[in-house]
Amino acid sequence: RPSLAFENVAFGYDPDRQILDGLSFEVPAGSTLAIVGPSGAGKSTIARLLFRFYDPQEGRILIDGQDIAGVTQDSLRAAIGIVPQDAVLFNDTLAYNIAYGAEGADNAVIKRAARDAALMPLVERLPERFATTVGERGMKLSGGEKQRVAIARTLVKDPPILLLDEATSALDTRTEQEILATLKRIARGRTTIAIAHRLSTIADADRIIVLDHGRMHESGTHGELLTAG
Ligand code: ADP
Ligand code: ADP
Repeated sequence: RPSLAFENVAFGYDPDRQILDGLSFEVPAGSTLAIVGPSGAGKSTIARLLFRFYDPQEGRILIDGQDIAGVTQDSLRAAIGIVPQDAVLFNDTLAYNIAYGAEGADNAVIKRAARDAALMPLVERLPERFATTVGERGMKLSGGEKQRVAIARTLVKDPPILLLDEATSALDTRTEQEILATLKRIARGRTTIAIAHRLSTIADADRIIVLDHGRMHESGTHGELLTAG
């Protein structure tokens, strides 16, 4: 499993406005780093830099010590699995939706992903297992079920790095707890960045950084940040 690091990363969308201001952090191989901060702090910008939608103006982003400036977007997409806040689901079968982005994945892989995402109860409830339609005109999935499809979609690619981008922000509290338990399980053994705006959803992270205006405001474990107030 790779390590991940930001080294003095400076970035602005416009030359006269710095969004990330010399940001440095390290995610040791196999560990989970959570990044919290208010809206506008720069969290999504970090995600965009990771996938090289933009490159930093200063500093480096390193995966296993290698500057990603020399890595293609396709390779990054293969290495980094993202679980977004709202996955896009298509009006097609569950299997299609899970394998989306990993076309050619065989049924055994899709099923294992569904199992690891705890989707099997849903799959087994269905008359024709994977042949069931989801989406607007088909069977309606709950918010939690949709997130499990998104998780399974990520697992099909078995990425060594995970980016959880507000992955539970759209869910009610109880569903959130269930999805958090699944995310904690799939993050085990992977190098994970969890982006969130509430501390309560990232209690399990090995380390947390609080981002404010593109700078690290404070960092520590969940317990340390709580006692710091
Ligand atoms: P967060 O994810 O923490 O809410 P973002 O990374 O989305 O923060 O945004 C950080 C800052 O960058 C905000 O002030 C936002 O308005 C600005 N910003 C985001 N995207 C763009 C863009 N494409 N062009 C210009 N400014 C942007
Ligand atoms: P935003 O905060 O702008 O709404 P998202 O939270 O959906 O954006 O995603 C944050 C960033 O993660 C995106 O700007 C993009 O860089 C990356 N991203 C989102 N979905 C994917 C995807 N399917 N494949 C690769 N990168 C993605």
